Amino acid sequence: MGVTQASLQRLHDNVDIVDLINHYINVRKSGANFMALCPFHDDKTPSMSISQQKGLYHCHACGASGNAIKFVMEYERLEFQDALQKIANLFNITLEYEQGNFKKKSNLLPTLTLFYHNKLFKHQDIYQYLTSRGINEDSIKKFELGYSGMSYETIKFLDEHHYDYNEALECGIISQGNDRAYAKFTNRIIFPIHSGNGVVVGFGGRTLSEEKNIAKYLNSPQSKIFNKSKILYGYHLARQAIYKEKYLIVCEGYIDVIMLHQAGFKNTVATLGTALNEGHLHLLNKDNPRILMCYDGDVAGINAAFKAAKFLSQNSKDGGVILLKNGLDPADMILQNKINEFQHELENAKNFVEFVLEKIISEFDINNPIQKEQALKLCLEYLHSLSPLLQDEYRRKCAILLQVDPIYITTKRMRKQELIQPHTYKDSHDYAEENILINMLKSSEYFFFALNFLDKKHFRKYAHEFELITQGKQHDELIIALQFKSNVQNLQQVEFEEQIRIFLLKYAKETLQNTLNNTTLNGNEKIQNIIHLRNAIQKLEKGEILTI
Ligand SMILES: [Zn+2]
Repeated sequence: MGVTQASLQRLHDNVDIVDLINHYINVRKSGANFMALCPFHDDKTPSMSISQQKGLYHCHACGASGNAIKFVMEYERLEFQDALQKIANLFNITLEYEQGNFKKKSNLLPTLTLFYHNKLFKHQDIYQYLTSRGINEDSIKKFELGYSGMSYETIKFLDEHHYDYNEALECGIISQGNDRAYAKFTNRIIFPIHSGNGVVVGFGGRTLSEEKNIAKYLNSPQSKIFNKSKILYGYHLARQAIYKEKYLIVCEGYIDVIMLHQAGFKNTVATLGTALNEGHLHLLNKDNPRILMCYDGDVAGINAAFKAAKFLSQNSKDGGVILLKNGLDPADMILQNKINEFQHELENAKNFVEFVLEKIISEFDINNPIQKEQALKLCLEYLHSLSPLLQDEYRRKCAILLQVDPIYITTKRMRKQELIQPHTYKDSHDYAEENILINMLKSSEYFFFALNFLDKKHFRKYAHEFELITQGKQHDELIIALQFKSNVQNLQQVEFEEQIRIFLLKYAKETLQNTLNNTTLNGNEKIQNIIHLRNAIQKLEKGEILTI
């Protein structure tokens, strides 16, 4: 659902770009214009000029430029629609959405966050527990930490504010017992969990009870708005630093994130009990930062790191793995004032491909030729799943690690054969269509490339979704649903083009077959169609991509 044209106009009319930018950085008047230190490059002298009249900004040094919306998108790393909402909030403008609906978002979770947060300050013991872990008051406020209190307190809060129990159930705030509702989080420290755009979508809770049969950490259950394998804890607070530092640190716990932010590593996030996976790519793809995974050095940590490093390298992501020794986690290191040591660990992260190869080889005794051969087989299997360039780069390294002649380390040129052949799967999903659509959502380059060649008629299962995407309605429920269920490949540009070529080729061949079988077409028209399709097939088979 997009914002209506009228709302967009109202936004343009009411938003002063100088006020807006001044909300984020200092702006000074200079002649007819305003100047500021450009936030998009390392600016020493104010290089950004802002024209109040034209509603535009421009940096003379790095070339960053645009209007108010663009500024917020770039500065906050937000999508278009979210930037609009953000500006509307700042300037107190109500946005209308298409289909005549006002976007009515419940404020249950934000209000409850505040309720729990305020409660924390009334419980000295909880507050002291946090400070004993090294968390200071600024961090408590920045991360909006809270205390749930007892079950009846949450229920009372819902009643007093007239919140719908069904909604509270859906958000995982309460569960329903024998005609009574109970709060999900009782006597727990609350860590609000935000989406990438900074909206509260769930909670993590750490118990303060010593009882053995109570889980130490509890997360909100999976729901329409809370999908823990797509969320990175702390991302909304880290995105600016990630953009500036061009890398991010991924660790395992809430307290790790908070302590690292406190120590100045503001580009830190955490996964919520899962390894990094394709669900996280929508966040990791923004600005393409290096990814440094900082895990415990125990078996579980090593296995999670292995899984993630394999997945990320297969998606050509840059980064490395840090396994902390002596059972320390990042929060411990900060608490023990080992900031320099931590920095040193970051600088010496083992890159993903090497980490994976070493881990594979470590499972075998390579002094034994049979075992060496088994290790070689697994290494090759992994190497061949990487891009051709990475295969070339790591051939030698792999040979050294295995102590074999590089001649044994073969490479595989193109992943073409692994690209999905359309219309051949028995499954109800049409994977080729999904593959194209999801990758179109990934980048505007892919989007426009696909738009040059594809049309609604080419899609069998997802014609409507294709239309929605081309109309910029990527927030439509159907598209979100598609992204949820889809388990598609993250394609490189060449692979994406190749996927489209195969897709069109299949379409052309099928259409040709249908035309040949069609008895209602008249002779001349039929011949024209057949010639046209045969030409197209010939060109497509030679590698050309064209519209049909
Ligand atoms: Zn600049």
